[in-house]
Amino acid sequence: MNKNVFEYDIKKIKRDGGLTENYDSDIGLFSDCLSPITSLSRINISVEFYLNENSVLLTGKVDAKAKTVCSRCGKEMEIDMSEEFEETYEAEETVNIKPLIDEALTLSEPLKSVCQNDCSQRQVENFELKRFKIK
Ligand SMILES: [Zn+2]
Repeated sequence: MNKNVFEYDIKKIKRDGGLTENYDSDIGLFSDCLSPITSLSRINISVEFYLNENSVLLTGKVDAKAKTVCSRCGKEMEIDMSEEFEETYEAEETVNIKPLIDEALTLSEPLKSVCQNDCSQRQVENFELKRFKIK
């Protein structure tokens, strides 16, 4: 199942007693969420809506795969990212959860990725020496 619309009818979810979904989405819809060095190759979204007295609670999870570059050697590498999100809806209206997914995806991107634990920093140091002409 592939889904590019992120709208949910809270009234219908209340009537149905909840809703659970899991789907892949179009990576092009999320191109603004990551830093320029990281490009998404897959995004999967899980949502679970459940009733709590008069409100509807949403818990969701974003799982993504992306290509980025090692912050030490600059080599291209693949990373797995994952982040959860949640929200409460009181009103019986149609809601769009795309901003929640965007935010979770942004938060899931690591500040620095390293291709392997012992990746040498030498290349970076050489680069810095040239750049700042340190002797
Ligand atoms: Zn590396």
